[in-house]
This record gives sequence, C-alpha cells and structure tokens, in this order.
Amino acid sequence: MFRDAATQYQQDERTLQAFTSLLTLVEALASITDQAENITRSETESVPVPPITLATAGQSFAEITNRALNCTYVAVFALDPPDERQRLLGIDGLSAQEIKQLQSDTDQTPLANYVDAEALAQLHSNQIVTLDLKERPFVTTRSTHGARYRLVAPLMLHGCLIGLFTVAKTDDMYPDVQSAYSPAEIALTKGIARLAAQVIEKVSLLQEKAEAQANEQRLQESTRRYEDFLSTASHELRTPLTTIKGNVQLAQRRVLALEKQADQNSLPIDKLQRIEYPLKETLLNFDRLERMIRELLDFSRIQADKFVMQERPCNLVEIVRRAVDEVRQTTSTYGRTIFLSLQAEEVVPIIADADRISEVLSNYLSNAHKYSPVERPIMVSLTVEGLLARVAVRDKGPGISPADQKQIWERFYRAPGIETREQSSANSNLGLGLYICKEIIELHQGCVGVESVPGHGATFWFSLGLANSACEQESAQ
Ligand code: ADP
Repeated sequence: MFRDAATQYQQDERTLQAFTSLLTLVEALASITDQAENITRSETESVPVPPITLATAGQSFAEITNRALNCTYVAVFALDPPDERQRLLGIDGLSAQEIKQLQSDTDQTPLANYVDAEALAQLHSNQIVTLDLKERPFVTTRSTHGARYRLVAPLMLHGCLIGLFTVAKTDDMYPDVQSAYSPAEIALTKGIARLAAQVIEKVSLLQEKAEAQANEQRLQESTRRYEDFLSTASHELRTPLTTIKGNVQLAQRRVLALEKQADQNSLPIDKLQRIEYPLKETLLNFDRLERMIRELLDFSRIQADKFVMQERPCNLVEIVRRAVDEVRQTTSTYGRTIFLSLQAEEVVPIIADADRISEVLSNYLSNAHKYSPVERPIMVSLTVEGLLARVAVRDKGPGISPADQKQIWERFYRAPGIETREQSSANSNLGLGLYICKEIIELHQGCVGVESVPGHGATFWFSLGLANSACEQESAQ
C-alpha cells in the first residue's frame, strides 16, 4: 500500500514535471517566433540577429524534451525525400562520441531501414510507436545506442510525415516498454511533436525567405552596378561621338562647297561625289548610334528611378508640327510622304515636357517608316475630344498581331516575324523605343495604345489631358 502510494507520488511528480516542461516549451516556441520576427525587423534596423536554423530549432526541442522526460536521450530527425531519409536535427543526452556514431548510423538512411512496415504505417497515420528493440529490433541495424526502448512520435505537417521525435530509455528501471513511457509522457511527447512540426515549418519558411532576401539583395546590387555601368558607358560614348559627328559634318559641308565650285576650279565632280556618299552614310549611322545611346541612357534612368520630366505649359499643335517637320527633313526618311492632319484650333494647351513628347511622336514616326514600305504614306493626326488630346500615327505596314500588341510596350520586346525595311535607317533596333514612349506618356498621366489588323497597318497613339485633366476620363468613356 505504502509502496503503491510512493509509485503514485512519483508518477504524479513526473506528470507535473512533464506539464511544466510543456509550458517551458510553449515559452521557448514563442521565443523562437520572436527571433523569427527579429530576422525581418533586423533588415530595417540593421541589428545583427543570429539566424535560427532547422538545426538550432531541432536542438532546442531535443534539449527541452530531454529535460521534461526522464530518458536516456532524445533525438529529432527530419525525413527528406525521396524515401524519407533521416537527417539529425538535434540530439540531447549522448556524449559527443555517441552522437557521432548515431549520426553516421542514421544519416541519409531511409526510415524503412529502421522501423518495420507496421510501425511505418502507424507513423504515417500520425500515431506514436513504442518499440522494445530486444523483441522488435531495427530492420537493418542492430545498433541500439545503449537504450533498449524507443518512443517514436511522428512530426506531421499538412498530413505528411516530415520528421521524427525519438525518446530513448534503458531497461534499467523498467521491465517492459509499456511501463517505460507513462500516458502523461506519451501525451507530452505528442504535444511536443506537434509544436515541433509547426516550428520546423516556420523555420523552414524563414530560411527560404532569408535566402530569397539574400538573392534579392545580390540581384539588386548587380542591377545597380549594371545601371551605373550603362549610364557611365552611355555618357562616355556620347562625348567622342559628338566630336566625330561634328568633324564628319564639317567634311561633308566642305565637300559640298567644293562640288559647288567644281566647274570654276575644274575639280573632278564624280570624285567629289564619291567622297560625299560615304560621309552621308556615316552620318546616317551616327544618327542610329546616337539614338541607341539615348535609348540606353533613358532606359538606365528609368531603371534607376531617375527619369524626370521637365513639365511646363506648351502647345501640342506646335510640338506635333515641329516633330513632323523634323522627321520630314531628315535624310533617313527620304522618299516618304507624311500627311499631317491637325485640329482647327491653333492652340491645344498641355502641361508637358515638350522635348519628350516630341521624342514619342518621332519614335512612332520612325517605327512607321522603319516597318512600312516607303511608297505608302504615313498619316499623323491630332484630335481633341472633350478634355483629351490624341496624337495618332497611322502606317500601312505589316500590322501587329493582337498578342504582340500587348507585348511591344515591354522593354526589349521585338515582335517576331516583323522585319525592318532597311538596316541603315537612322533607327535603333533595341526593342526599347516603345517602352520609353510608354514611360514618358505615363509620367504625364497620359495613355498609349496601338490599333492594328495584321496585314493592314498599325495606328500608334497617345493621349494627354488638356492642362489639368487626367487620362482616366478616356478609360471612363
Ligand atoms: P525597336 O527598336 O525594335 O523598333 P520598339 O520598342 O520601337 O523597338 O518596337 C518594338 C517592336 O514593336 C518592334 O521590334 C516591332 O516588332 C514592333 N513595331 C513597332 N512599331 C511597329 C509598326 N509601326 N509596325 C509593325 N510593328 C511595329
């Protein structure tokens, strides 16, 4: 009777200790969660916080559980695909030498090499398994690591077995496996396993997040370096090019002057013309190069959030007229008819960066010229409807498929199968022109678009609010 009371007392003591430990565990869980949140906070506060890894979380659980249960050792394993290979996450209760041995026994060994099919099925259905290794040894290993009994609790996540919790005991104090683990200890181990699974999930997610953040930072850094390079390279290229272009223009003017005096000075006009032609070609290519450099420079500004418009009140009629005249006068559009249809109003007031708006129009025009046969005229129109002004450039080229109509506004996109008329025109082919146009117009709170039926040409347009109105009104119509 007295002995029974003593045993009962011991059991109550262990139960109490177990539940106290469960509380400690819940606290520990909260601290792990805090640490996890610190990882995120530390990014902004730049406070160095030691990273929690699966190994540190697993080790904490093994230690806490070992403190709670009167056992030889506690080990926590993750089970990795494809065949539930064991990976030791944490262990408490064994010497360094013994841990090494256990690790080399279990590491990368499928769970099926350890427990039999019945135990496997139980673990998969989220049940605790108790083993007496004398009567039911491991499947392929005889190593017991000095403890005969095992309580194996599954770590389940979203219905899948992701790991194990093993609580090992010797047979010194317990005659059989049933008496080795009290119901309270089994309940406690189950509870710990449930908590551990959640922590492991959280820590895994955090690790993934931390890796993603590190990758993102690396990417941002390399993008920044790339943009710096692009911007410096564009500037560096521009300066010598401007000088070379100036010299070629000077040479061209001198040749033209000599041609004019050829008769008086009996100079060979055919030879002079032979000099003039490559100079003309060189200048065309300079224009092309300049445009490419300008696009690259604008692109790097957009990427670096440094693409700024100099907006002031201006007249869209004048901008359109001037841009069309300039394109008409460039040698590269030689032989092309460009019709211009303007509103009756002489003034269409907008608040804008006139140079940038003009750049959009000349880009549309140079594309129309680049992609449509030279004998087909290009139509430019400026219309005003309500509080919106709309500029459109219509060509009779190959047109653009509905799928490509969406993508051509993306950087570097070039519609497959659409060929330029000639390579030597003063155009770039970087697939950046429309991207930059869209950016410019959207920075003016305007809209861009294209209408096209493949085979029947394309109409590229942009719309801008008349001083102080916004383009949403167009979408609302
Ligand atoms: P790119 O420098 O290649 O012309 P853009 O951004 O100006 O770059 O144009 C993107 C793509 O849109 C072009 O490569 C071409 O496939 C298509 N595109 C642009 N304008 C026209 C047009 N007027 N007709 C047919 N396709 C066009």
